[in-house]
This record gives sequence, C-alpha cells and structure tokens, in this order.
Amino acid sequence: MTEPVVLPNFESFGDQALKGLESPEEATAATQALLKEDRNAGEPVIDDPGQNHITLERGICREGAWYREAEVRELTGADEEAIAAAGSSSYKVFETLLLRGVRTVGHEFMDRKLASELLIGDREFLVMAIRRATFGNDLEFEQLPCPDCGELVDLTVPLDAIPFTHLPDPEQTEYDVPLRRGAAATVRLPTGADQAAVLAIKDGNGAKQDSEVLGRCVLRVRQADGSVTKRPAATSLSMSDRKTILKFLTDTQPGPRYADFTFVHDTCGKEVTLPISLAVLFRGM
Ligand SMILES: [Zn+2]
Repeated sequence: MTEPVVLPNFESFGDQALKGLESPEEATAATQALLKEDRNAGEPVIDDPGQNHITLERGICREGAWYREAEVRELTGADEEAIAAAGSSSYKVFETLLLRGVRTVGHEFMDRKLASELLIGDREFLVMAIRRATFGNDLEFEQLPCPDCGELVDLTVPLDAIPFTHLPDPEQTEYDVPLRRGAAATVRLPTGADQAAVLAIKDGNGAKQDSEVLGRCVLRVRQADGSVTKRPAATSLSMSDRKTILKFLTDTQPGPRYADFTFVHDTCGKEVTLPISLAVLFRGM
C-alpha cells in the first residue's frame, strides 16, 4: 500500500519564479521528503534519448545572430551528489541542475554566465528537458487526493501536457506596455541574472523584490507629452503602473507554466489544479 502523495506547498516556477520562496527551510524539507520517498523507486525509464536536443524560445544572441538550439544530458550519480550538496534552497538546486544538465546552448558550453543570460522561461524549459533525459517524459502520481471529492487518484502527466507559452517573435527583445494617462513603458523580459538579484533580497519584502525587477527590466517610460525618462526609479512608478508592468512580464515570459497544470477528475468532473514543482519533477532522484 503506497502512502498518499503529499504535494509540497511551495512553487519555484512560473508566476512566482521571481518571488523566491515563502519559506526556504520548509521547501527544503518538502523536497527532501519527496526525494527520499522515491529514491528506491526503480530504474529510470528513458523514452527517447533523441529528445536531448531542444529549441529554446529566445536563446542567446552573438554578433547579431540568434542561437536557440540547446543540448541537455541525462543526470548521473555525480550530478545527484552535487544537487544534494546544493540542498539549502530551491534556487541553488535549480541552478545546479542547469549547470550540470545542460551541455550546450548554440555553440557554447553551459556555465554560470550563460545560465544567467537566459530568459527565466528558457531556463525552465531546459530543466524540463533535463528531467525528460533523466527520468523520461511521464510524471507518475499515485494516490493523489482529489481536493474536491477526496478520492485518491492515479495519474500520468506527460511533460508536454504542461501548458507552454511561446514568444510571438523570438527576436523581439523590447516591448511597449501601455500605462495610465497615455504613458508607455519599454521593457525587457527577466533573465536568470534578474532572478538571482531578486532572490538576493533576503528580507522577504515583496514590494522591494518587485522594485528590483522593475528597476532592471524597465528601460524607459514615455509620457503622453512625449517626454522620456530612461531607467526610471521603480519607486517613482505608480502602484497601478507597477502592477501593469509586472503582469506583462509574467504573462509574456515564455516557457512551461508549471503552476498552471490542471486535469479533470473523471469521478467528480471537477478541474483540479496540480502545480508541478521542482520536487515533483525530480522526485526520482
Ligand atoms: Zn474529484
């Protein structure tokens, strides 16, 4: 008899990727619990090693040319040890996964600098590919309690069933966001470096974290009268405009939407939200 799976109550992807974690200690405990549970669950099943090559949404730009092809590899025992050693925060685990599991982006080997340059969405897509290379395409859930009717559900979720956002034009790096009173902000999408800067704000002040993102990603604001402010202080933007810009950055970021996965439970007919966390993706380790 398998114990019911208790989903970890944290999420390090998608909408909240910029926000860090409510409680890193708790998250780690949840991760460890899940990782331990399935440690001896058996040999990984590799569906198709040919899937180690993916095309990123944005990729990297070198001398005016864009490179989107990336190669990942299956994680080994040595990687598992390195990831366990990274253990104190989900962000460090994520970073270690990227540095070890990604071989190349374009013609360049993965390193810290390259990882920091990638859009958050490309990083999350790479982690999905590493998961596929290591444990296969299917996430298996057993004895998952339905939040609506309580019945225990067995569920197989192929990775490609997770909602995915594409960039309409991968080479467009700046976007205009309409603000109040006829103004408009020109912004760029957040990268790994931006994410690291936000997570470096340790006091858990969400407004400060928002300011950090805005300070980095808002390139200029044009008022209705045509005057332009380059790199405006994030604290000088109105609360409403800040919200509008942050929502745009979240909605436009490409890649897998791990937090948005839902399924319809046959028995009760209800749509159930099942956020796919890092711990769920890699619980076979
Ligand atoms: Zn149900």
